[in-house]
Amino acid sequence: TERTLVLIKPDGVARRFVGEILGRVERKGLSITALELKTADEAIAATHYAEHEGRPFYPGLLEFITSGPLVAAVLEGPRAIAAFRQLAGGTDPVEKAVPGSIRADLALDGQQNLVHGSDSVESAEREIALWFPHLARG
Ligand code: ATP
Repeated sequence: TERTLVLIKPDGVARRFVGEILGRVERKGLSITALELKTADEAIAATHYAEHEGRPFYPGLLEFITSGPLVAAVLEGPRAIAAFRQLAGGTDPVEKAVPGSIRADLALDGQQNLVHGSDSVESAEREIALWFPHLARG
């Protein structure tokens, strides 16, 4: 089994898609093993997106991700990382996400794309330790 860190970004909470998105996660067969509504401060947002520092979209991304409450979750299951990224669809909801995915079905914008999911085991462990320190391993 594997675990992944998922965010329902502030647009997803504002648009009242928490139930819709968690429903898709549950229908896929992934387990929700941690779940919390919180508002990200600048420090946690900057650490979460540290790999994008210096990109032109980075300041706007931090502003967006700290703009209101989000849902942070840990999902577990076989191939949970890839499974959630399949559910999410590609980063750009129009150009990349395939129909049937969360982003393709419910979003239009390349920044306000509803969800985040870890992209590797290393990212997942780093992100879980950041958002849920009590669940950090090793
Ligand atoms: P996430 O990390 O949120 O799951 P991702 O892995 O699909 O998304 P990344 O390339 O890691 O995509 O980008 C992280 C986030 O930064 C995107 O989900 C999106 O919100 C934002 N972003 C990425 N590229 C752009 C862009 N060109 N313009 C605006 N925002 C962007």
